[in-house]
Parts: sequence; structure tokens; C-alpha cells
Amino acid sequence: MLLDIFDPKAPPKPIGIDLGTTNSVVAYVRDGHPLAITNCDGGVLLPSVVYYGPRGQVLVGKTAQSYATREPGRTIQSAKRYMGRSADDPQTAQLSAHRFKEAGSEAERRVVRFDLGEEGARTPVEISAEILKSLRQSAVSQLNAVGGVVITVPAYFDDAQRQATKDAGRLAGLEVLRLLNEPTAAALAYGLEKRKDGVFAVFDLGGGTFDVTLLRLEEGVFQVLSTGGDSALGGDDMDRALALQLLPVMGFAVEGERTEAPPEVIGLALEAARRAKHALTDAAELDLELPKRGGGSLVHRVTRAEFDALIAPLLGRTGRACRRALRDAELTPEEVDGVILVGGSTRVPRVRQFVAELFGQEPLSDIDPDLVVAFGAAQQAALLAESSDEVLLLDVLPLSLGIETMGGGVDKILPRNTTIPVGARSSFTTFADDQTGFELHVVQGERELAADCRSLARFTLRGIPPMPAGMARLDVSFHVDADGLLTVLAKELTTGLEQQVEVVPSYGLTDEQVEQMLLDALDHGEADLEARRLADARVEGERISKATSKALASDADLLSAEERALVEQAQRELKAAIEGSGASVIQARIESLEDVTHAWAGRRMDRAIRAVTLGRQVGEVERRVEHARGIEAHLEESAAKAAQQAAESAGLTGTQFDLTTGGQAKTES
Ligand code: ADP
Ligand code: MG
Repeated sequence: MLLDIFDPKAPPKPIGIDLGTTNSVVAYVRDGHPLAITNCDGGVLLPSVVYYGPRGQVLVGKTAQSYATREPGRTIQSAKRYMGRSADDPQTAQLSAHRFKEAGSEAERRVVRFDLGEEGARTPVEISAEILKSLRQSAVSQLNAVGGVVITVPAYFDDAQRQATKDAGRLAGLEVLRLLNEPTAAALAYGLEKRKDGVFAVFDLGGGTFDVTLLRLEEGVFQVLSTGGDSALGGDDMDRALALQLLPVMGFAVEGERTEAPPEVIGLALEAARRAKHALTDAAELDLELPKRGGGSLVHRVTRAEFDALIAPLLGRTGRACRRALRDAELTPEEVDGVILVGGSTRVPRVRQFVAELFGQEPLSDIDPDLVVAFGAAQQAALLAESSDEVLLLDVLPLSLGIETMGGGVDKILPRNTTIPVGARSSFTTFADDQTGFELHVVQGERELAADCRSLARFTLRGIPPMPAGMARLDVSFHVDADGLLTVLAKELTTGLEQQVEVVPSYGLTDEQVEQMLLDALDHGEADLEARRLADARVEGERISKATSKALASDADLLSAEERALVEQAQRELKAAIEGSGASVIQARIESLEDVTHAWAGRRMDRAIRAVTLGRQVGEVERRVEHARGIEAHLEESAAKAAQQAAESAGLTGTQFDLTTGGQAKTES
């Protein structure tokens, strides 16, 4: 017998946990290599299922799973799908295989609660905590003492879902060092951060979900370029497709997705289908023993070719999601340098073949696709626990980062708790005609109004050629590197004007300050939202009113006297509403004004088109060319000014400001 001997005085070991929808895994690093820890079932994959028995008994894993058909009301599966969701969330109702507790109070509405009858109700956080607790116990019994943990989450998880995951960790008595995106963890496990830079695709087909993520690795940091997938597509669907073929063989009619078979028989058919699916991963065919209707059993042969044909439509859906993700990242399959397979369902040979065809290359598959995410998490945990000076690659943003929009609202570009390094982009346009400058105000915080957030930087992009309002396309990209250093790059797309500043976002903020800002955001949630809505409605109203005045000045002749009176009346009412009414009234007035100007807009469009064909635009074109020539000279000056302004603003707010590239600006024409 081989004994795993540990030193009782050994320091606590950091661990990594893949908290999956279907299965969860805990791993740690020994002598530089990741290893999976044996769980309470005696294996390494722990089914993410929790059973709440009478008298407070709680079971996790395979034993819990065995209650799923017998006592479905007490057995909770796929709790991860409900993490961070409210009772009112449309997704909640859609996924309701479980019974939910009627929510009474406002606070109760904020989270889903599974109804367990006499055992009361549990939230997804509590259920996930049971799974984490079980994994922690396995780790403790093997390693003696457990240090901090890194838990993985899907890349698309929002703030609430991440927070819920963290809470589950705390509830399980774990010190959560960090949340890590699942695809990033997989890439880390492959050691890609130590290799050359490039773009990697992570294809993750699990039990009930499919995720595809495109990551760019640059100088040792991963940036999520795009994510895609289907939250209702996975190995369970393969089981279902095959079970629907087996039921008629067993003597039960099937029509489409419906069958006359009772739930227990469906359960048996699904179980047989899953067994067959797993076996077909290694064998080309197999003989299944199936129970017959009315008693007895029969033997039925299933071939891999049949199975491959059955899952073809499912693969088609993964293909579409991958192509969309590539499109979102503006990449072709040839530009992908490596494809990583994650999730139990990528063991299916046809899936691997399909991925290879899709990306035109053999996917990486040296590491067990079931364990690769937990391995990456364990490696990250080990890195974090080392007290060495080694640069830590990944972190999360403590507070959201955004840009002040017209009217004082905030466009959150990077939400709080986003794993860094990270990049994101947002587009803005000009508000007024002939606006040649664009002021950017970078803020940090959770509140809806910029004035209530912390100001990080202000800078101006100057030298935009005069254009009608809404024509200029300003692309603002945020990039936070591994050290938490934020770079903001603003680019006007029609001219190619560019400007870049670097900011240190959370520098100087203590944990207590971060905490306080979060509390403030919670306290003010409702009022903030209303203030934000009002600010936005006012801006929109102003814009429409201005556009109307401009149109009246040039094209009033296209209106009849009555029409004109109606337009002017609607405009007056809108102006009055902007002065003294709430957001919904302003919105209603905007709509009324749009109603009475609709036909007129069409006539004006016709006239504009005729004008262009008559060559009246020539003068305008010349003016623009002239202007573009002037821009070059203007730029040097504007960049210098922006740098100075940014530095000033940093001085005012007390933020440490790292301005390295204030003078970068160029034109392309
Ligand atoms: P999740 O990420 O949702 O927790 P997993 O990555 O653990 O899910 O994948 C679970 C799925 O993988 C299940 O549908 C299971 O049937 C499937 N699976 C596991 N092993 C195999 C195999 N050898 N062949 C085919 N499918 C498999
Ligand atoms: Mg998974």
C-alpha cells in the first residue's frame, strides 16, 4: 500500500478549484506539478449535486446524484446556473427544473431560493458552498492544512455571479485568494504564458454549457478578446438525443422530444445513453442491455457512426458560436495559434475532429480536459502563495472603471471584479455639430453618476474635423495590465486621431475605502438609477430639440402650416419637460416630437439626397480636405496640452499618475 505521508508541520497548501456546473475538481501543486485530489466519492470529478435529507443531513457528489430521480425535490443540480440571479430574472423561470421559494421581501427577491419542503430553502450560494466544503475536506485530509484557494468562473460571469462565487467560498470556510476565468486557467495549465505571444481559442464543452473564448497572450498577460457559447448546450443534450433513440427500442413511443415513457424509464434511458456515449469514446460500437416494456431485457447495438450523426446538429451550434466569437474578435481561424480543449464532452472523438476542421489545426489535448481548469487554478494559487517577488499575472479589479458620458452618467467599461489583465472597448460619438474636441473623464466606482465616483483622469482629444453631430466615431479602449495599471487609448476613427494615457486605478485606495464605496453604491442604488435616467433623458431631449431647431431653420418650407404648428408645440413641451419634469415625462415628450416630425424627416432626407447628386457637397469635401491638412500641425500642441491637463487632474485627485505616452498622436488620411 502506498501512503501519502505529510509533514504535520508543513505550511498550509494553496489549492485550486474548478467549480463546475456538472462536475467540480480540486487540485494542488506538488514539486511544480499540478495534481488532482481524490474526493469523497473516491474519484477526482465530484458531481456538483447536493442532496438535503431529513434531519439536516447533507450529501454531495455521486451519493447525492443517486437521489436525483427518487427525491428530485431535495436534490439540487446545476446550482451554478442560478448563481447571482434574482428571483425575477427571466433566466430563473426559464431554467426552472427545480421548485423555487416564493419570495416575500425585497431582499428575498434579490436571490433565487430552492424550495426544499420541510428542509426549508437554500440559495445557490449555500448549495455551492456545500460542494466547496466537501472539496475542502478532501483537500484537508490529503494535505493536512489548506491555505488560500483560487476558484474558477466562466469568463462571461458578471459582477453578481462572481461575488456570489466568492461568497460561497467564504461560506465554505475558504480564504478566496482570487477568482480566475476558466479559459485563462486552462491556458495557464498549458504553460502558454511562458511561451510565445499569440491568440488562443478555448473550446469548453461541459455537461450543460458550451463556452468558447478567444484570448490574446502578450508579454505574459492574457486578454479576453471575445467570448461566446450557449448556456444550454452540452453532454446532457447528447445523452438526450441518444435516449430518444433508445426509448422506442425499449417499447415506448417517442414523438419529437416527447415520449409516453414515465420519468423513471426516461431516467434509465438517459443513464444507458450516457454509458453508451462514454464507451463509444474508445469503442466503435457496443451492445447495450436495455430493460423492455412489460419486463425482461434486450440487447441493442449502438455504433459510433450513429452517435456522430445524432450529435451533428449540436456540433453545428458550437460551430456557429465559434464563428461568431471569431468575428467579434476580428480574427480568422488561421490567426489562432492554438486551440485548447476543455470539458468532459470534448473527449468525444467526433467533437475533436469537428474542432480540428473548424480551426484548421489539431487542438491541444495533452492535459485531461476534465482537469485542465483545476490545474490552472492550482498553479495560480501556488504562484499567489509564494512570497517571492515573482510578478503575479492575474488579479481582479476592485472597482468598476468607466467614462463619464454627456449629462454626467457613467459608461462602465470594465466592471468591478473583472479579472485582469484585461482590455475592453466602447464607442462614443459627438453630441454637437462641428464639435472638434472630445473631453474624456475616466472614473472609478460603482455609482451611476460620475460626480459620485472617484475621478482618475481627464484628457481631451482635439483636432476632430467639423462634422454633423453623431458622425464622429470615437473608440475608447481600456487596458489594465497585470500590475493594475490602466491605459486609456482614445481614437477617432474617421481621422485616425489617437491619444493615450496611463493611470493607476486603485492606487492609494485602502480596502476600507473600497468597501465604503461599495456600501455607498448599495445604499444609493435606487436614487442613483433615477438620477442617471433623468440625466440621460435630458441629454437625449436636448439633442432632439436642437436637431429640430436646426431642421426648422433649413427645411421649414417642407412643412405645412398646421404641421409646423404641431412640431413647434411638441418642441416647446419637450423643452418645458427638460426643465422641470422627470425622466419618463421627458421620454414621452421626445416620442411625441418624433411622431410629429416623422414624415417631415423623410422629405428632408429626399431633399438631401437630391442635393448630393446635384454636387452641392463639393464645397464641403474641399473644406474637409483643407481641415485635414491643418490637423497635423495642431496635433503636437493638443497632445502636449492633454498631457498637462491629465497631470493636473491627477494632482487634484491625489491619484498617482503615470503619464508615459502623452505625446502619441497621429493622423491617417
Ligand atoms: P461542467 O464543466 O459542466 O461541470 P464537465 O466538463 O465535467 O462539465 O463535463 C461533463 C460532461 O462530460 C458530461 O456530459 C459527461 O457525460 C461528459 N463526459 C465525460 N467523460 C466523457 C467521455 N469519456 N465521453 C463522452 N462524454 C464524456
Ligand atoms: Mg467546466
